[in-house]
Amino acid sequence: MKILVLNSGSSSLKYKLYDNHEKVAEGVVERIGEEGGVKDHREALERAERALVDAGAIDSFAMLDAVGHRVVHGGERFIEPTRIDADVIEAIRELIPLAPLHNPANLVGIEMMADKAPDLPQVAVFDTAFHQTMPRKAYLYAIPIELYEEYGVRRYGFHGTSHGYVARKAAEKLGKPLNETNLITLHLGNGASVCAVKRGKSIDTSMGFTPLAGLVMGTRCGDIDPEIPILMEKKGIDADTVLNKESGLKGLCGENDVRLIQEHAAMGDEKSKTALEVYVHRIRHYIGAYVAELGYVDAIVFTAGVGEHSALIRQMVCEGLEPLGIALDTQRNLQGDEDIAADRSPVRIFVLPTDEELEIALQTETVLNP
Ligand code: ADP
Repeated sequence: MKILVLNSGSSSLKYKLYDNHEKVAEGVVERIGEEGGVKDHREALERAERALVDAGAIDSFAMLDAVGHRVVHGGERFIEPTRIDADVIEAIRELIPLAPLHNPANLVGIEMMADKAPDLPQVAVFDTAFHQTMPRKAYLYAIPIELYEEYGVRRYGFHGTSHGYVARKAAEKLGKPLNETNLITLHLGNGASVCAVKRGKSIDTSMGFTPLAGLVMGTRCGDIDPEIPILMEKKGIDADTVLNKESGLKGLCGENDVRLIQEHAAMGDEKSKTALEVYVHRIRHYIGAYVAELGYVDAIVFTAGVGEHSALIRQMVCEGLEPLGIALDTQRNLQGDEDIAADRSPVRIFVLPTDEELEIALQTETVLNP
């Protein structure tokens, strides 16, 4: 099957074309709606089509078998990938208050595509869906319950496509059925989150009502005392901007690229060293919590930019965790092995590349050929 995966953001359109699970072309149209860029999403989609035709990948969108869309927020309604129709479009629209920056941009991609190729099957794959298996005790906040009932304020979690993909891969590596496998999956990219997977299902995750919660990220603060933004607003500081764009690693040391922070730390920069320590401390905090929630852990999985490439962070995260059954092999970690646990470690430690677009293509196919 030829499946086009679209990630339609507010100012960019990323696309990847798969032919029977093989990626055959990809591209990105940036600066949509900006000066010097393309006018709107319709034009961006036309650019993408032209690029794919010029590359000899397709004759037109009409010859695709399906389009899979990344959609950020599926609320409580969407617990699995879903074939898009008018009802689904309306439901995604109704979820805009929960994801005011992302869902509208995702919707534009869906509607433009439906307009261009009305007969082409389209599927929505939601970042939140994998976490809809969380129990109530994990997703409720201890705030007046009316806020949940009336406005849907609860933990949703994100990066679900990635956590789900690496969880399935990890079970394959373990040679166990996914529904008998317990995992802690660490998606450490620019955004970062951790997920507790019990018998193949998400039972807890570090991101919350929004992707601002949980781990220390490139520019996002992760967990903080909820009084802090209230204090900031009283001082006339724009908490929304500061906590989303000027915090995290960048807030601590002025830099959000982990590779550069490691270099600066190695040269003796104290702020960079401290930033890495805070970053790692938070990850370890969640590992401890999730071991307690899961009771038994088959494997820890490192994925995304930092998880896949930073031996230093993996080493710091696993240091001294032997009492939890987690023992890293220094040599295997430095070599970049797939399983970096020591032979004596009861818990396996995997480094597995994530591939959210491939997962969207696979899920799209599953929806069309159940
Ligand atoms: P995104 O969330 O934007 O998809 P990625 O998953 O690509 O992000 O992760 C980006 C992060 O990965 C950056 O902080 C980058 O510094 C880090 N990274 C990539 N390669 C390395 C490396 N070799 N060592 C340390 N960090 C790395």
